[in-house]
Amino acid sequence: MSAFDYRDDRLFVEGVALAEIVDAVGSPCYVYSRRTLVEAYRAFVEALGDQPSLVCYAVKANGNLALLATLADLGAGFDIVSQGELERVLAAGGDPARTVFSGVGKTEAEMRRALEVGIRCFNVESMAELARLDQVAGALGVRAPVSLRVNPDVDAKTHPYIATGLKENKFGIALPEAMACYARARDYPHLAFIGMDCHIGSQLTDLRPFADALDRVLPEIVRLRRAGLALAHVDVGGGLGIRYRDERPPTIGAYVALVLDRLSSYGLEDSELILEPGRALVGAAGLLATRVEYIKDADGKRFAIVDAGMNDLIRPALYGAWQNVIPARRRPGPVREYDVVGPVCESADVFGRGRSLAIEPGDVLAIADAGAYGSAMGSQYNARPRPAEVLVDGARFHVVRERETYDDLMRGERVVRGGL
Ligand SMILES: *Cc1c(COP(=O)(O)O)cnc(C)c1O
Repeated sequence: MSAFDYRDDRLFVEGVALAEIVDAVGSPCYVYSRRTLVEAYRAFVEALGDQPSLVCYAVKANGNLALLATLADLGAGFDIVSQGELERVLAAGGDPARTVFSGVGKTEAEMRRALEVGIRCFNVESMAELARLDQVAGALGVRAPVSLRVNPDVDAKTHPYIATGLKENKFGIALPEAMACYARARDYPHLAFIGMDCHIGSQLTDLRPFADALDRVLPEIVRLRRAGLALAHVDVGGGLGIRYRDERPPTIGAYVALVLDRLSSYGLEDSELILEPGRALVGAAGLLATRVEYIKDADGKRFAIVDAGMNDLIRPALYGAWQNVIPARRRPGPVREYDVVGPVCESADVFGRGRSLAIEPGDVLAIADAGAYGSAMGSQYNARPRPAEVLVDGARFHVVRERETYDDLMRGERVVRGGL
C-alpha cells in the first residue's frame, strides 16, 4: 500500500493526517515518507542480489540531511556534484569512501577537499578537468581515483533540459576520445583510472535508451580489459523515471535486471556496479502541501491561488511537468475545474491547469511526487522564505528543516548609502 492514501476522506502520509502536519508546521511545507524512501532503496539492493555493487544516491535530487542520513544508515553511497553536496553528505554521516563526485565544473578547491576526505572516485567530464585533477592530486602527494564519464551519444527521449547523453550536451567525453585517454593513462602520474561511467538523462520511462547506452559503453570496457587495463567498476549513472501521471516507467527491479543482463552478456559481472539513482529513490517519497488562499473567477476561467509558488517547486514551470494535485480532505462537492497557481509574479507560476477539484478557500492541497527536484531547486524568488520540511516515520513526524524566517532572507546583506 502506498504511504500516501486516503482514510475516511483524509489524506494520510503513513500514519499521520496531512492536515495535522500543516496545522502544526504551517503552509506551504514539504512532507516526506521515510518508509517510501527506504522501500525504494531496498528495491535496488534486492534486485542487485549478489552483484558487487554500490547504490550512490544522487544528492542533487534532494539534499535534506534527514533523507541523506536515512540512506547513509541503510549503507547507501552518494553521487555529488559540488562541495556543498559533499559537506551535506559528511554532515549526515555519509561515507566519502562510498561517494562519487560528478559534474562538469569542479573547482580546484572542490578537488582538494574531496581528495582530503578520501572520495571514492571522480567522474571526470573533460580533458581539461583531467589535467587539473592530476595537478591538484600531485600537489597533495596523492593519486586521485578517476572514472571517465563517457558520452555515448544516445537519445534519452526525455525533456531536452534533462537529456545529457547526446554529443551536443555539455556532459561527458566522446567515447573515442575517452578511449584514447585511457590508453594514455601513464601520462597522468597522479591519477588512477579505476572506472568508466555514463549518465544519459533523467526521468527515462523506457529501458531502450539505457540498453543502447550500455551496448556502446560496455564493449569499450571489454576492449580496455583485453588491452591490459582492467577497470574495477562500471558506473551506469541514474535517470530511471517515476510515474507522475500515466507514464509507465520500468520498475526498479526491471531496470536493474536489464543492467545485470547486459553486464553478464559482456562478461563484466565481476566488475563492481555503481548506480546513481536520484528521482527513483526520493521522487515518490514527498509531496508539497499548500493552502488555497483565494478562488478567483475571471471571465469563465477559475483559478485556485495557493500559497506555494514556482520558487518552491519549479518543475511544472521549468519543464512543463505534470504533477497531481489532490486535496488533504475530500469534500462532497461541487467539483469544478481550476488552474492551480501560485502567488509569484510570473505567468509561468502554474502548478496545474484545468484540474477537477472540490475546494474552498483555506483548504489544503498536496502536489504529489515532489520529493525529487522540488525543495532542491527551490529559491527565494519574490523574497519568499523557503518552506518547512517534514519527515513522517510511521505515526510520528519530525520537522527536518525549519521554515526560513524573514531574517534568513536578508542574512549577509548590507545597506550601503553612497554620496557621503
Ligand atoms: C542528475 C544525475 C543523476 C540522477 O539522476 P536521476 O534522474 O535523478 O536519477 C545521476 N548521475 C548524474 C551524473 C547526474 O547528473
